[in-house]
Amino acid sequence: MSKGYWLSQKGEDHGLNSQPGDIWIDDGESMAISNVLCERRQQDGKWGEQNHDPYVWLSILVEEVGEASKAMLESRFSGNEMIRYRDEMVQVAAVALAAIESFDRGTWEDKIRL
Ligand SMILES: [Mg+2]
Repeated sequence: MSKGYWLSQKGEDHGLNSQPGDIWIDDGESMAISNVLCERRQQDGKWGEQNHDPYVWLSILVEEVGEASKAMLESRFSGNEMIRYRDEMVQVAAVALAAIESFDRGTWEDKIRL
């Protein structure tokens, strides 16, 4: 078994004592990866498994990129904290991951004609 720790959906380190819903994080993984995996879990908890077609996924992803851009602009010109930009970028990465997972499931193929 590799070294690591259990991480809650809220990002709490549970060490080696897992609780329901925790995900395993290898020690070699970065905090960013951990944050993205937590965000993915939260998205599934909130929305359930999503099987949009690639057109919809791309629109959702670009919407998230727009939120990251807005956070950056508000940091630059309104003095908001830059951490909001990081939080939004975690959401961007999590949505991109969800889009890839959905693509790989292939359940969207009946919804569109290419
Ligand atoms: Mg967002």
